Amino acid sequence: MELFVYNTATREKEPFEPFHDEVGMYCCGPTVYNYAHIGNLRTYVFEDVLKRVLRLAGYRVKHVVNITDVGHLTSDADSGEDKMEKGARREGRTVWDIAAHYTQAFKRDIHELNILEPDIWPKATEHIDDMISLVKALEDRGMTYRTADGIYFDTTKFGRYSDFARLDPQSLRAGSRVDMGEKKNPTDFALWKFSPSDSKRQMEWESPWGTGFPGWHIECSAMSLKYLPQPIDIHCGGVDHVRVHHTNEIAQAEAATGAAFVRYWVHGEFLTMTEAKMAKSGDSFVTLDTVKQRGIEPLAYRMFSFTAHYRSPLAFSWEGLDAAAQSLRNLRRLAGAGDGGTGETSAPGGADALLLEPFYSALCDDLNMPKAMAAVWDMARGSGASPADRRRALEKADAVLGLNLFAGEEHRRDVLTDASQTIRLVAPAGMKVDADVIFEKVRLRRDARAAKDYARADALRDELSAAGVTTKDLPDGTTECVLHK
Ligand code: AMP
Ligand code: ZN
Repeated sequence: MELFVYNTATREKEPFEPFHDEVGMYCCGPTVYNYAHIGNLRTYVFEDVLKRVLRLAGYRVKHVVNITDVGHLTSDADSGEDKMEKGARREGRTVWDIAAHYTQAFKRDIHELNILEPDIWPKATEHIDDMISLVKALEDRGMTYRTADGIYFDTTKFGRYSDFARLDPQSLRAGSRVDMGEKKNPTDFALWKFSPSDSKRQMEWESPWGTGFPGWHIECSAMSLKYLPQPIDIHCGGVDHVRVHHTNEIAQAEAATGAAFVRYWVHGEFLTMTEAKMAKSGDSFVTLDTVKQRGIEPLAYRMFSFTAHYRSPLAFSWEGLDAAAQSLRNLRRLAGAGDGGTGETSAPGGADALLLEPFYSALCDDLNMPKAMAAVWDMARGSGASPADRRRALEKADAVLGLNLFAGEEHRRDVLTDASQTIRLVAPAGMKVDADVIFEKVRLRRDARAAKDYARADALRDELSAAGVTTKDLPDGTTECVLHK
């Protein structure tokens, strides 16, 4: 099975030949100032499929996804506000609270989408020293300069700066100079920003240059180089990162280390909304909770994302998502019609392997999921194949698909969360539940406990229990309520 992936660096589909026995895979993680929208989640689903295919191809994978909890500004031009501090003001909470809350929400989303957890989740705020060391290395090599608001990378000193994104240096120079401040070139970017003199930031650190905080790009270079050997085998993200974020990551990392940064750059295209690009900072965006509130299970969204190649834009619509939910139900029904996989295979060498061949070859062709799904349907209908072979093949396919094709109805769960995202209700799929009544009782129980009225708190717990609800208080402050039939 030879795997081919499209490498943004060469604009070619290339055979995958990693440098390291354990494949290093770095995926730019969420900026935790708000919930992830389903566009963001499309990117994490495609990265998850890539990781599962690598494992299928026999590789061990070391997967790192960072948490950006400081330094991502509202403008790519290094002006504007830190998204985290803005989020904290919006909600009247501390930046640390905001970071903890949305990190937890993100982890829950990926869990519900059957996205395998990374091996390491580094947080930007816990790697400030690594970032400072990298900026120092750049300073020692003469790549930086100082302005009134920070330390900047001089992109004219890195000759290959325009290569990766195939930027036209001419048009860059002639381009808009708005937002330039004291920057020498429009493409120069902040490595370290100083705290404003007239107000105190919630997150700031001492550095050799003054109190402040790191730029967003240096975070990813520092954290990826800390946890993965260079050159990093694979670095992923959404296509929006090619032009600025990844271009800057390459410039910093290669200028500081003098060696190639990454072997394969793999980028996922956007999920688009009919009106406009989906933006987390906009007023309306669809999250996984919005999907669940409409009675659609999260894995239907995973299925929906397989309807397009990861390098093609995918237009979101509720009709499309409903259709994916229906096809997932149909596929599970067909899959469940197998005989449990205990029968004899009908051919030596495994007829299931033969059945799987078109599926695997579509995956190995740069993760062609629409083609792979067509192969799955053929497998599930399986004319000519024994039910046992069909089932075995589909079980193997599901190791990549992550669609829970064999989850029996009794094991499937609907998950609902209250508006504050701190109460989670898990109920058997399709069960009619009066969630608001349960949420209200949980809130009253919390109030009673806060007021040290333990008798009332216990009475409320008993009422919930009598209604078939078990409550559990999780360490992150969430209350999980499990409803039994
Ligand atoms: P952010 O939390 O904004 O840093 O983005 C997290 C990930 O989502 C990055 O890899 C982005 O490239 C990706 N992303 C942002 N918007 C979309 C979208 N509409 N469709 C697909 N991926 C996106
Ligand atoms: Zn990044």
